[in-house]
Amino acid sequence: MSAPDAITRAPVLILLGPPGAGKGTQARMLESRFHLKQLATGDMLRAAVAAGTEAGRAAQSVMEAGGLVSDDIVVAILRDALDAPDAAAGVVLDGFPRTEAQAAALDALLAERGRQVDAAIALEVDDAEMVGRISGRFTCAACGEGYHDTNKPPAREGVCDNCGATEFSRRADDNAETVRARLEAYHEQTAPLIAHYARLGTLERVDAMASIDAVATALARITERARS
Ligand code: AMP
Repeated sequence: MSAPDAITRAPVLILLGPPGAGKGTQARMLESRFHLKQLATGDMLRAAVAAGTEAGRAAQSVMEAGGLVSDDIVVAILRDALDAPDAAAGVVLDGFPRTEAQAAALDALLAERGRQVDAAIALEVDDAEMVGRISGRFTCAACGEGYHDTNKPPAREGVCDNCGATEFSRRADDNAETVRARLEAYHEQTAPLIAHYARLGTLERVDAMASIDAVATALARITERARS
């Protein structure tokens, strides 16, 4: 029995897709629309590098080369984030899991907490376009809003639409050479997870070459279903 105002559950969503597919942009949109918590392991690792923690020191050179940080480090970071109070209303995982071992660790972590992956969403894109998409992107240094030189420039040049700040930053690993290594890591180690979630019956495929708004609409529909 379902009703339009049925009580909603706290969903666990995964965004799968190569660098540049729009995982971060879409995760932030889901966060503001559905009050889900975006858990982006890349952001957490960059914060660890900036803070000079042990995990950050171990991760830095691997990230600069476009490889994958060890499963142990990433799973430990993710476990802490899952247990934070702000993850209680549901999470959208952005950039995790990236290997079969991480997917297995996630299934176990969730099972221990009486939760499960409700939807694994594959953002499907054309690889050839990814290098251009990534090399044009930048973010607001104050609020983290994402932009792109041609696809999504701020409405007023040099001013963040979201918070009005005027400082922006570009990621060190968003250069053509590192992007190619990141795409290779994705195809070798992460793309096989699509079959993992297809087997579990939780896979959803979304055409992520469509506009940001069209992709957001598709993801909102999937999220509504996952919550009810
Ligand atoms: P991202 O911001 O998701 O593009 O991640 C940036 C970099 O952080 C990646 O190229 C990896 O070096 C590292 N990283 C992020 N998430 C993971 C993960 N789940 N497993 C291994 N490495 C990761």
